[in-house]
Parts: sequence; structure tokens; C-alpha cells
Amino acid sequence: MELRIPGPTPLPMDVRKALAQEMIGHRSAEFGALLREIRVRLRGWFQTEEDVLVLTASGTGGMEAALVNVLSPGDRVLAVSVGVFGERFADIARAYGADVTLLESPWGRAADPDAIAHALSTDPGYRAVLVTHNETSTGVTNDLAAIASVMGVRGDKAPLLIVDAVSSLGAIDFRMDAWGCDVVVTSSQKALMTPPGLSFVAMSPRAWEASERARMPRFYWDLRKARAYAGRGQTPFTPAVTTLSGLREALHLMEEEGRNSILERHRKLSRAMRLGITGLGLDLFAEETHASNTVTAVRVPPDWGTEELMSRLRDEHDIVVAGGQGRLKGKIIRIAHMGHVNAADVQRVIEALRAVLGA
Ligand SMILES: *Cc1c(COP(=O)(O)O)cnc(C)c1O
Repeated sequence: MELRIPGPTPLPMDVRKALAQEMIGHRSAEFGALLREIRVRLRGWFQTEEDVLVLTASGTGGMEAALVNVLSPGDRVLAVSVGVFGERFADIARAYGADVTLLESPWGRAADPDAIAHALSTDPGYRAVLVTHNETSTGVTNDLAAIASVMGVRGDKAPLLIVDAVSSLGAIDFRMDAWGCDVVVTSSQKALMTPPGLSFVAMSPRAWEASERARMPRFYWDLRKARAYAGRGQTPFTPAVTTLSGLREALHLMEEEGRNSILERHRKLSRAMRLGITGLGLDLFAEETHASNTVTAVRVPPDWGTEELMSRLRDEHDIVVAGGQGRLKGKIIRIAHMGHVNAADVQRVIEALRAVLGA
């Protein structure tokens, strides 16, 4: 089976071999070296000088950690949403008692930096702005640099910029420090070519200061604990040791290929995918100017059911793609080109679609 869903993504053979090793103790020197190496290498992908902390959790756990460490119940939060994952960020904030204002764009469109600037200028009370860098449900990448820049130079009282970079970091240009992101979360099973099970969070100095005042309840997600343990090469609780071993190998492979080559490969693959799709006479869901480099959403012709299309791709061509989520269920399919994927993989999806659709 060729897994073309937007996470979990396929594993390179070297990663699979690393995953097959014998267990090591999580309080051992060997584990300490593993954790340290990973945290150092991840900094390069976050483009940050800050600590990158490792949590054993899916991406959603990392999102929860990103919020509870810097916010208090009743805090005003501007949740910028362009799809399912933007809504999820808002839902988590609400679950912990934040006072959330949703700033939505029509699905398929990117967030409008001017609208964010306007919202912030009409109400100076916001403590945080939540942004999804790459909205996996619609195949849209927000212009995070532009969003960060309308938030301006941020003093003590200014809102924190909290970013879900789960389906972008490692495949789409991301610059935590240069753009001024305060809290950034990603996870293992997307562009990082590693099984599910780990989330990674980095925080700016302003965010660490906020974490001292934050009053949302936290125990497992307490990043102050994670940082203290990381200093001695450990995590507070038993981590997904095996997944970390796989990640070390994936990060080696990524360094071999090089950051710029990886970003360029994803740019090219996404372009090839979009050209192939429109060449079949199908329509893209995302606006062209903000189309994602990691996932392409395709409108399914009205005479086709998405379920039928997906099962024929699977049964006749061994290719697994994803359907629409939420209100897009039955309307689109989503094809990932994220992580361990090459040009031939993209062409096989196009040819399979051509065969199934008789296009
Ligand atoms: C995959 C994903 C997540 C996390 O989902 P989990 O299933 O909890 O790992 C969060 N945000 C985005 C944008 C994603 O693509």
C-alpha cells in the first residue's frame, strides 16, 4: 500500500530499521545522548535558538501543551481558523476556559493578515493569537511571516503568537525566531517521517515568562518540568523511546538531503500534483496563491462519491488517500506529498486517478 494520507506518513527503510532495535532505559546515559541529539537537530527545523521539548503525545497533545503553559482561564484569545485544525485549536482553548473569539476565513482560503491586524487593533485585550501554519483539512498554507509582522514588535502586554506547525515544519519554510513565533508545536508523524507518538514544543523567552503566570491546569503537559528534566537528558515521564530512535534516523536522513533541498522538493511535488490534478479536469479546493506544499485537496466531481473513489484507488491501485473532514466530508479527497515522497509517487497517484475516473 502507498500511504498518501496527510499523516501518519510513510517511513524510510532506515527509520524502520532503527525502530526494530532493542529497548533502552529512559533514565540511561544512552537515552540522554539520544534525547540531546534530537533536541539539537530539531532546533534547525524550528529555526530557533530556544529549547525544543519532547512530549509523548499526538499533535493534539502538543497543541494542548502549547496553550495550558501560557494561558489562564478567562484570557482573551483570538483563534484564527481556516479549517478543522484551526477549530480544534479554538476548542482546546475553550475547554480550558479561555474566552475565545474565532476569526474565520472561508474554507479553501488563507487567513487575512489585515483582518488579524484589525481585530487586534479594535480590541487590545487579547493575550494570544492562535494560528495554524498549514491547514491540513483544506490544503492551505497561511502566510505566517505576514501574520507575525502585522502583530508588530511585541512588548510585555502584547499577545503571544501560538502556532500549530504540525503539517508544515520539516517540509515548508518555517522560522520561529525570525518571524517572532512565541509557542510552536509540531509532531513526529507528518513531515518528520517518523511514527506517531511524539510532539515537540518550543517557546520564546516571552512565552516562558508567561508560563510563570499561567493558571490553566497542567500536570502531564507542564513544560517547566519537561525543561528541567531535559537539562539532564531525561523526560519527566516514560517517553516513546522507540519513536525517538526512529526520529534520530529520520533527522539524519533529513540533514543528508539538506534543508533547502527538502523545501524545494516539496514545492516541486506539490506543483506537479496540482498540475496533474487540473490536467485530469479536476478542480483544486485551495486558492492557488496559498496552496499547500504538503497536502492537496481535490474537489470530487458530483457524479462520484468520495468513498467510491477512495476505495477504488485502494483496491485497484494500492493507493490510500484521505477524505474530507468535518463539513468537507464527501466533497473532497486529500492527497499528501509530505515527508518520504518523490516525483514517481506523485505521478502514480495521478495515473491511478486517471484510470479510475476514465479521464
Ligand atoms: C495532524 C495534525 C494535527 C495533530 O493531529 P493528531 O492526530 O493529534 O496528531 C494538528 N494540526 C494539524 C494542522 C495537523 O495536520
